[in-house]
Amino acid sequence: MTITQMTEETIHKETSCMDDRDPDSILPEQALARIIDTIVAITTTESIPIRDALGRVLATNINAAINVPTGRNAAMDGYAVNAEDLPTAGLATLQRIGASFAGKPFDGALQRGQCVRIMTGAMMPDGSDTVVIQEHTSATGDNIRIGRDTNPGANVRQAGEDIAIGDLVLEKGLRLTPADIGLLASLGCAEVAVTHKLKVAFFSTGDELRSIGDALDAGMIYDSNRYTLHGMLSRLGVDIIDMGVVKDDPTLLEAAFKEAATVDVLITSGGVSVGEADYVKETLIKQGQVNFWKVAIKPGRPLTFGKLDATYFFGLPGNPVSVMVTFYQFVQPALRKLAGENKTLDLMVKVPCSSRLKKRTGRVEYQRGVLEQDATGRMVVRKTGAQGSGILRSMADANCFIVLPIDNDGVSPGDMVDVQPFHGIV
Ligand code: AMP
Ligand code: MG
Repeated sequence: MTITQMTEETIHKETSCMDDRDPDSILPEQALARIIDTIVAITTTESIPIRDALGRVLATNINAAINVPTGRNAAMDGYAVNAEDLPTAGLATLQRIGASFAGKPFDGALQRGQCVRIMTGAMMPDGSDTVVIQEHTSATGDNIRIGRDTNPGANVRQAGEDIAIGDLVLEKGLRLTPADIGLLASLGCAEVAVTHKLKVAFFSTGDELRSIGDALDAGMIYDSNRYTLHGMLSRLGVDIIDMGVVKDDPTLLEAAFKEAATVDVLITSGGVSVGEADYVKETLIKQGQVNFWKVAIKPGRPLTFGKLDATYFFGLPGNPVSVMVTFYQFVQPALRKLAGENKTLDLMVKVPCSSRLKKRTGRVEYQRGVLEQDATGRMVVRKTGAQGSGILRSMADANCFIVLPIDNDGVSPGDMVDVQPFHGIV
């Protein structure tokens, strides 16, 4: 640690986590921009069966090799007819000559005055171009009476109506959802090219940390950050390397940094404030480069970002809520960009807040909230109890962040606020 000669004046100038204005802090949007500008997406890819591709990032555009649907088929149950036979006045009687089922088409063609019983999804017989729905017909044996309720061409799905051969269906850089996988299956794609899985290592720092199963002596706490990080990383589909707990000892930290040299991203928690046992930033300065180390946010101001050779480094704060907030706001977009994803999550909605929120100007705050419907069915947000950065309960009870801008100085019930739904990441 560097020892600074302190005078009364310099003591008052030191910024603590209690202060809201800090000249060393950069704005969160600057921090995110620096991260996104620094990170270069990986280019190595692999081809995998589509069933395994959920949550992976597409490495190529997917263009349709077939039409969907492949041929004309019925959109409703009824009778396939020739539009010329639709009555212009009164009723018309057509002769039923057979049936077409999904997967069992009618073998033949319609002549004028004829119709074919047809089920949804069944191929339209040659000579037919319209389906008269069952409810608009009446039958006496094979004589089918139809009225004037049907427009020519109605209730037929045309070949290639959903997707035509050659259409761009899924774009490179898309993180695949269950719907995308279904779409690939509907096009007959067995395998798909995706970017390789990122290798992400993490460890916790702190002499006070104990692993689950160990006794908690006075002053010790269980390490929860490795578990929340493991959970958040699992949802991003990366290969996870849990390096355990590293004591607050510069030599051990240096060794752990070296051990992580081959991973794409290293994440640590704790040891980034200005306490005497906070060695993470120093170690990064020694072995790599620091891009920034303080962001004007609450919780989570002491956030370090940098590089260790080819490995991107995030030094998250130690407090459990700060870990989750900084992961969600900064690490998650970084991992998405690195994995080749071309979109980041930026869903933000404005809703009235039903709670009173305390805040001082000087930092962007990510308070934890519950987005829900009020008695009238309108979406509102309320806070989840006490908002201390160590109170993981505030996060567990939440389904969104309430994002309060830097100049906001508190929220009264009824005020409009910006809300970021978690939608499955944290
Ligand atoms: P630090 O940033 O190391 O000063 O830690 C800030 C606060 O977070 C302290 O109260 C730590 O005990 C707590 N903390 C640090 N690491 C963890 C962890 N892995 N799990 C739970 N709490 C932690
Ligand atoms: Mg610590």
